[in-house]
Amino acid sequence: MSNDVDVLIVGGGPAGLAAAEAAAKRGARALVLERQNEIGYPVHTSGGSWVSDMQALGIPQHLYHPVSKVYFVSPHREVPLNYNPAVACVMDVRGVYQHLAGRAVAAGAAIRVRHTVEQTLLEDERVLGVTAKNHVSERITLRAAVTIDASGFSRHIGVRTAMGKAFHRYGYGAEYDLYAPHYPQDELYLIMGNQFAPRGYAWAFPRGNGRVRLGVGVLHPDSDDDARSYLDSIMQNLPQLRDKFQDASPVEYHTGLFPSEGPLASFSRAGLLLAGDSGGHGSTLVGEGIRFAIYAGQMAGIVAAEAVDARDSSAAFLARFDKQWRARFGRDMDISYMINKHIANYSDEQWDNALDLMRRLTPVQMAQALRGDFTAGLVLGVLARNPGLVATGGKKLLDLMLERINKPAGNIAH
Ligand SMILES: Cc1cc2nc3c(=O)[nH]c(=O)nc-3n(C[C@H](O)[C@H](O)[C@H](O)COP(=O)(O)OP(=O)(O)OC[C@H]3O[C@@H](n4cnc5c(N)ncnc54)[C@H](O)[C@@H]3O)c2cc1C
Repeated sequence: MSNDVDVLIVGGGPAGLAAAEAAAKRGARALVLERQNEIGYPVHTSGGSWVSDMQALGIPQHLYHPVSKVYFVSPHREVPLNYNPAVACVMDVRGVYQHLAGRAVAAGAAIRVRHTVEQTLLEDERVLGVTAKNHVSERITLRAAVTIDASGFSRHIGVRTAMGKAFHRYGYGAEYDLYAPHYPQDELYLIMGNQFAPRGYAWAFPRGNGRVRLGVGVLHPDSDDDARSYLDSIMQNLPQLRDKFQDASPVEYHTGLFPSEGPLASFSRAGLLLAGDSGGHGSTLVGEGIRFAIYAGQMAGIVAAEAVDARDSSAAFLARFDKQWRARFGRDMDISYMINKHIANYSDEQWDNALDLMRRLTPVQMAQALRGDFTAGLVLGVLARNPGLVATGGKKLLDLMLERINKPAGNIAH
């Protein structure tokens, strides 16, 4: 293998694998370096997503499990939502990531597992590549026209090139992946409130064949509670789930960190792009980032290949990635972050009130809000169904959302 490639990708998660496929499809020599021994392992995510996105991204149907009933639970409320056909789904995470890896290789990219990126090669402010420790612990140097930091929460290159700091505000998640013979495989639960998920939320995501992911995420530093300590209590004490988890037992245990700071001010500089969690490209509304990492990775891979073709990896050229990402996702991610900050410290009573509001929305409106598709139509629809909001703090948030919706694609200060 030559040590020089066109596009060098740090991290073989969904962002990096999608970037590799997109760049290779456009003729670039693309290489992914992944520090783990396997793509898609260990699992550090719950895999909740949307059927329409799985279809749009060409993910085979056997790699996701559609779920038709969604329940919101707060201390004294429960809101059931029914969808026919199902709109939400839970991925076979390892299967999807391995599928993306296969697609990248089929397009002509190379993947190296057990390769840990260490230093960044910098010359006159331009990123020229990286050094890494390979699978036999040799130190190697790899040069590239464009490096893509797809290293997720570690933001490995971004931190070392002053693109962004290490994340300070983040969700810490702990999860059992259980075999649960009595759990209804068409029911997904999102659970709010201090007893089971302080400063965050808990979830039960069925994923087919008797398997269910039961997890809790806690926002740090807003709370210093340990998500791990809530898992058994939810299984044993939450009235809605107790019977469903009878005779269940965990067969996997996952933990993970999700950035909760909104998108970076910039995702590009000479020779470098940041895509996926490293750029803050996920939705902070519900901690959803897989499909957004894939979309951002695809965009970054295409821009990187264009830069290679044009023999121009200057900051000015690569900034087209920022423009494209902000045009497609900037508004929704800014609003997701606004809402995240608004609800982060909700009391039990506020969660009960929020569920009263949800009860008045249609299942379609709820799905649109959860997906983070924030249109003026949605905000006005919410107001129309909740005229009482005008008198409460909720109206102020909706006004801020409308203000952001009406702004042209661009950045807002957090
Ligand atoms: C508990 C939890 C639950 C979640 N649930 C959901 C959910 O239900 N649905 C959803 O859509 N999203 C969910 N997310 C978010 C989702 O997991 C992330 O947004 C997504 O994984 C981001 O993809 P990525 O490719 O940017 O980063 P990652 O998936 O983190 O991939 C980064 C890769 O880079 C590698 N890497 C890092 N540093 C180096 C290095 N120095 N050298 C080489 N390789 C390196 C890592 O090993 C990793 O494989 C959840 C997150 C957490 C923490």
